[in-house]
Amino acid sequence: MRLISLELNGFKSFAQKTKIEFMAGMTGIVGPNGSGKSNIIEAIRWVMGEQSAKDLRGGKMADVIFAGSATRKPLNRAEVSITFDNQDHYLASDYTEIKITRRLYRNGDSQYLINGNDCRLKDVLDLFMDSGLGRESFSIISQGRVEAIFNGKPEDRRAVIEEVAGVAKYKKNKDTAEKRLGETNDNLHRVNDIITELE
Ligand code: ATP
Repeated sequence: MRLISLELNGFKSFAQKTKIEFMAGMTGIVGPNGSGKSNIIEAIRWVMGEQSAKDLRGGKMADVIFAGSATRKPLNRAEVSITFDNQDHYLASDYTEIKITRRLYRNGDSQYLINGNDCRLKDVLDLFMDSGLGRESFSIISQGRVEAIFNGKPEDRRAVIEEVAGVAKYKKNKDTAEKRLGETNDNLHRVNDIITELE
């Protein structure tokens, strides 16, 4: 599995469509302060399902949409696509190349696509869960994140270890099953109440 490319369009300082292609080996991105290096990393986190505006250095999610400059009007939409080579099926999908796209409009509408097909945020998160690429993994380390992990609460550190160890997926499935079980129990109680009333 390898990162092939990243396309940004209207995301933060990237007002115009910009495609970054990653060659084999290591890629370094250099540029003056404020030129958008961190915005590129944030675009990767965002397209992979980041939900915290604060972690993307914003107050609200719409802050990722290009806000205008001296020479350019603000835009109404941010779009980022990331493409992975998945010939080794490292990501749990039959596709040998996976392109994920996320769009956000100023009115709050948003859209996720996997290889051009509409999907849910959950599908994107599930794709990366336990891959070591998830939101809580060590694959993307932002400025200040190392200190945050070491100074963080033990539960937060545990979440990082669980993601790396590959148990996060099972924990999430267990939570979902427990929630469903609770709902089913509530329904059963309601049915019993109705039966008692009818008797
Ligand atoms: P440094 O080397 O100082 O860490 P950097 O190259 O990582 O800088 P970024 O922090 O990625 O730079 O980019 C900051 C720039 O992005 C600022 O000029 C900021 O105004 C711009 N920016 C952030 N959000 C938006 C937005 N929504 N619309 C337009 N520009 C934005």
